[in-house]
Amino acid sequence: MSRVYNFSAGPAVLPEEVLKEVAEEMLDYNGTGMSVMEMSHRSAAFQQIIDDAEQDLRDLMNIPDNYKVLFLQGGASQQFAMIPMNLMKNKVADYIVTGQWAKKAYQEAQKYGKANKIASSEDETFSYIPDCSDLAVSPDADYVYICENNTIYGTKFKELPNTKGKLLVSDVSSCFLSEPVDVTKYGIIYGGVQKNIGPAGMVIVIIREDLITEDVLPGTPTMLTYKTHADAGSLYNTPNTYCIYVCGKVFKWLKAMGGLEEMKRRNEEKARILYDFLDESKLFKGTVVPKDRSLMNVPFVTGDKELDAKFVKEAASAGLVNLKGHRSVGGMRASIYNAMPREGVEALVAFMKKFEEENA
Ligand SMILES: *Cc1c(COP(=O)(O)O)cnc(C)c1O
Repeated sequence: MSRVYNFSAGPAVLPEEVLKEVAEEMLDYNGTGMSVMEMSHRSAAFQQIIDDAEQDLRDLMNIPDNYKVLFLQGGASQQFAMIPMNLMKNKVADYIVTGQWAKKAYQEAQKYGKANKIASSEDETFSYIPDCSDLAVSPDADYVYICENNTIYGTKFKELPNTKGKLLVSDVSSCFLSEPVDVTKYGIIYGGVQKNIGPAGMVIVIIREDLITEDVLPGTPTMLTYKTHADAGSLYNTPNTYCIYVCGKVFKWLKAMGGLEEMKRRNEEKARILYDFLDESKLFKGTVVPKDRSLMNVPFVTGDKELDAKFVKEAASAGLVNLKGHRSVGGMRASIYNAMPREGVEALVAFMKKFEEENA
C-alpha cells in the first residue's frame, strides 16, 4: 500500500485513522454482523450513529440548543435554492459575491425573488474580500449571504460582514471545523462535507430554530423544506447513512485531537509554512491579498503556464497529487484541510524549493 499526499479541493483527504477504523468495521459494525452500508436507517444501531454524530458536532462547535443540525442530501449546491425557498419571506436577499460558489448562489436566488449583489470582488478575479463594514444592506432583506471560505480563489472572511441586524447565512463548505466559530452570529451555517469532513454526498445545515417554519415560498417541495427534515431528525427519507457514519468518526477524531482550537493552531502552522515560502520564493507567487488568505486553500502560480503544468506533473510523480488549480484560475492550488498532516505541507514546500532551483 502506498498513500500519496492528496491536495485535492474536494472530495479530499480524510484522516488515515478514520479510514482504517471504517475498514475494520466494514464487514461487522459493532457486533451487528453487517456493514453500516447494509443497515436500516430505522435501526437502533443507526439511530445511535446519527445521535452520536450530532452530539459530537454540537460539542465541537458549541452549537446552542436553539439551533437544529440537519444531515441532508443534494450537496451545498442544493442549498443555493433551499435557502431562498425557505427564508425569502419578503422576496429580497443581499449577496456578497466573493467567488464562483457565492455567484452561483446569487444567481439561483434570482429565481425566487430580488437578489441584490451588495459587494463583489470579481473586478480582481476574486483575489480579495471586499470591505463589508458598512454595506448598503437592503432594509427589507430577509438575509445577507456569504461564502466564508472561497475554495477556488483561496480567500477567507477574517471578519464577518456587518449585516446591520439582518440574518447572516454562510456557506462554510471548505472551512467547516477548521477553527472555532460563534454559531450565534448566524441564522444558517451550512457546508458540503466532502471538503473538510467526510465523503461526498451530504450537506450539514445548522439552522436557528425560529427559521424553520411552514411559511415557505409556494410550490416549495416537501423535500426542500427545512421543517420536513427538522421534524424527522434528518430521517424523513433515507439519508446518506454511510456518510453520516464516516463524518461521525471524523468528529470523534477531531475531539480526540483537541477540538477546533487545536485544529486552528495546526492549520495556522501548516498554512504559515506554505505562505512563508511563497512570500520568499522567486518562482512561485501566491495569488491572494495576504490579509484575506485562506488557511485551507492556497492558490499559487509561476506566471508561466508551461512551467505550471510541468510542476503539477512532476509533483504528482513525487507523490504530491491534485495540485492543479481550478480551471477558472489556472496555476496551482494546494488544499490543506484538517486531515492533511504537517508533513504533507513540508514535503510540498521541499519539492517546490527543489523545483525552483532546477528551473531557475
Ligand atoms: C464545493 C463547494 C460547493 C459545492 O458543493 P457541492 O456539494 O458539490 O454542491 C459550494 N460551496 C463551496 C464553498 C464549495 O467549496
